[in-house]
Amino acid sequence: MRKLGRMVMASVVALALWFHLSIWGVECPVHDTDMYFTGRSKVKNGHMFYLYRCPLGDSYWVRQD
Ligand SMILES: [Zn+2]
Repeated sequence: MRKLGRMVMASVVALALWFHLSIWGVECPVHDTDMYFTGRSKVKNGHMFYLYRCPLGDSYWVRQD
């Protein structure tokens, strides 16, 4: 049960992060449209980057710290 609890916690954190980033609002620099968060993230040079996708097909890694 302890393992399940941790999984639930992880999904709650992921959901909160997703919600936070979706209300943050990132616009595509090329098309001026709202981009959506894909759920992918990476750490580069000690900074967090999140992958956003434009409805018109392009995607960008956006630094969040
Ligand atoms: Zn675009």
